[in-house]
Amino acid sequence: MNLQQYLSEHQQEHLEMACRLMAQKSVSPTGEGMAECAALLRGMMEDAGLRTEVLKTPGHPILFGEMNVGAPFTVLIYGHYDVQPPEPLEAWVSPPFEPTIRNGRIYCRGAGDNKGQLMANLLAVRAFHKTGERLPVNVKFCLEGEEESSSANLAWAVEQYKEKLACDMVYTADGPQHASGRPTVLLGVRGIQYVQVDCEGADRDHHSGNKGGATPNPAWYLMQALARFWGDSPHEVAVPGFYDSVRPVTPLEQALLDRLPWDPVETARGLGLADDHFASTTAAEFYRRTLMRPTLNICGFTSGYGGPGSKTIIPARASAKLDMRLVADQDPLDIYEKFVAHLQAVTADMTEVRFTVTDLGSMAPSRTSPDRPEAQAVVRAVRRAYGEEPVVMPSLGGSLPDYVWTRILGVPSVVVPYANPDEDNHAPNENIALDCFFNGIRCATEVFVELGSIRSPKL
Ligand SMILES: [Zn+2]
Repeated sequence: MNLQQYLSEHQQEHLEMACRLMAQKSVSPTGEGMAECAALLRGMMEDAGLRTEVLKTPGHPILFGEMNVGAPFTVLIYGHYDVQPPEPLEAWVSPPFEPTIRNGRIYCRGAGDNKGQLMANLLAVRAFHKTGERLPVNVKFCLEGEEESSSANLAWAVEQYKEKLACDMVYTADGPQHASGRPTVLLGVRGIQYVQVDCEGADRDHHSGNKGGATPNPAWYLMQALARFWGDSPHEVAVPGFYDSVRPVTPLEQALLDRLPWDPVETARGLGLADDHFASTTAAEFYRRTLMRPTLNICGFTSGYGGPGSKTIIPARASAKLDMRLVADQDPLDIYEKFVAHLQAVTADMTEVRFTVTDLGSMAPSRTSPDRPEAQAVVRAVRRAYGEEPVVMPSLGGSLPDYVWTRILGVPSVVVPYANPDEDNHAPNENIALDCFFNGIRCATEVFVELGSIRSPKL
């Protein structure tokens, strides 16, 4: 039977399978239902024709599946079977783990994030298996159980099972489509390095009258120090070498940025800024700054007294929390070391106080070039599946552990979100539109066909 005909005739069955998976709790932060969900999903993977294995990690296991058809190209599909806690329960219209169809959507915790989307990919493979049509690529699945717990063991596991996971590219369906509702292709993410800077003066707060003029105030010193991290403009960073490994934006990436939907007034309103805030900003400039350039941001600054009325003290300490959003090919450790070196240099003359820096965590950035044949194959597949030109984003502004594929496995990684922009993932009444679910299955089959047509994936 023809594959597309099979898909349209088996919609009800596919819907029921997705709902069965969604109905099984799998809350990774509490562990509720995780083992049951892994067993259920593993059975579904076997039914789709995959050879499966449970890969142990220090936390919840990874479900691995493989279908080797002897094709020259192997795609690894990433997804996660865990979900966020469903609270607050009273805000749900129907119970969070009872998949309910209304308004053309399936409502359930995990509907969009990520069970509906990972099932779309699995059902695409299953359709090839059930119809006996030849799958054009070898397929592997890596389905994680800790994505909603910060993917705590993913990098460890990818390192540990590197050979088993070896592939030519990684394909993920997660997250919502672009706000415009157009099909979307994501080619990267920004990384992050989080730090805390503490500045200490005396061993306790002092009376600002009795001791003022003689006791150092760490708030002043920390403000002075941080000011020296500010470059020529509010968005430029003065840390020497900070931009050294920033990968230049290619002409093709620039063309993609130019084409991203851009409404300066709507964007300003969305941010709660004055309507004319971005009046002189072009789409290319806005997206270059928010997707392709690194930042240094003060998330919080704490010192002394902030309560009602007045309290006349010289605070003993001041503290700031900062995040740096990193882009390819910046390395979090290198950036951390440069940050510390710059802090030492700019505070060398501040001998009255003591500065300390704490590394509060990091995640490397990742970017796959749109020039790569794998990325272009996916864009072609998405265009054909949806009959519409996709929004292709060279990067997300936010951070995801995409680097485990591009850095540890060393392969390109492409994300195609199948869920509707208002999937309300992590929130009450999470959902996925039925259209989005069925289009996702179709999209995955087209992706396999296009990837199978790449002649020399290793080039
Ligand atoms: Zn999530």
